[in-house]
Amino acid sequence: MKENIYNYTLDKLTQYFVMHNEKPFRATQVFEWLYRYRVNDFKQMTNIPKKTIASLEENFDILSLDIAQKQVSADGTCKYLFRLADGRLIETVLMRHNYGNSVCITSEVGCNMGCVFCASGELGKIRNLTVGEMILQVLMVQKDLDHSFQRISNIVVMGIGEPFDNYEAVMAFLKIVNYPKGLEIGARHITVSTCGIVPKIVEFADFDLQVNLAISLHAPSDNLRSEIMKINKKYPIKEIIEAVRYYIAKTSRRVTFEYILLKDINDSKECALQLVDLLKGLNCYVNLIPYNEITTKPYKQTTKEKAEAFFAILKKHNLNATLRMEHGADIMAACGQLRAQKMKEEK
Ligand code: SF4
Repeated sequence: MKENIYNYTLDKLTQYFVMHNEKPFRATQVFEWLYRYRVNDFKQMTNIPKKTIASLEENFDILSLDIAQKQVSADGTCKYLFRLADGRLIETVLMRHNYGNSVCITSEVGCNMGCVFCASGELGKIRNLTVGEMILQVLMVQKDLDHSFQRISNIVVMGIGEPFDNYEAVMAFLKIVNYPKGLEIGARHITVSTCGIVPKIVEFADFDLQVNLAISLHAPSDNLRSEIMKINKKYPIKEIIEAVRYYIAKTSRRVTFEYILLKDINDSKECALQLVDLLKGLNCYVNLIPYNEITTKPYKQTTKEKAEAFFAILKKHNLNATLRMEHGADIMAACGQLRAQKMKEEK
């Protein structure tokens, strides 16, 4: 059976060529064709010998993803619903920022983490995505942008799924998108977001690339966090903060804490002060995010006044923070919402 060539890191492709008695540098040439010129046929790789092309065609496919649906928001946010080869659906979101085009990618089909406010966790995890399926999300969006001579400048692994629950594949994905003669997404322009898988935060501190780490915190105390995020029962806040301290000590990199403001749940002044206490002295940044409401969930977006009051408390106590704008609210940009709706329609 043929392999999806996008599953291969440069090291793995080099090994493949060595094993097939080919020159190892063929791997960098193929990588350039795949990621810089984004060809979809081995025959277009004009500097590769014919017999090598034949061998590649025999062993690999250059696949793409079917676009099951695409929605464009008034603010330019673009949501793709992709159908995988096995018929499963995943979401990818392109967000337009003043600093560039950022793509939020999915790492698993569904998610087992069970955060109560999230549509993605409702149906549980079906399977991990392969490296190639993650790469293809980026390539499909980039090929769309190629029509207007734009490029993806940032990647966040923050879509459906918990990236550290699919650790090896996500790390291989990061190496491929970062490859300088390919998509060339700078490591500092890539962020991986975890809900707090402590052993993997520690392991990630030793990862070769200077990729950013974000922690989906969403509550400043264990009582509250365990109510809204099941994972907190396994890895309580204290352990997460210890792991983050270790990560910062090893990497000297600032960590982002994501905090979705849920009306009357975690948006009080007391919560803001608890958050200040928890994070003070840590080399970190807090991203306050408005909640994208989901019809199947009782949770509501906090008011503008409460969001601003929360933000003001963090600032007053010298915590680095931003109050983020909502992206694509008119196209169901909440993680997993479009997928859940399409699955219901197809039942
Ligand atoms: S918020 Fe993230 S980790 Fe939590 S259930 Fe949703 S996809 Fe999973």
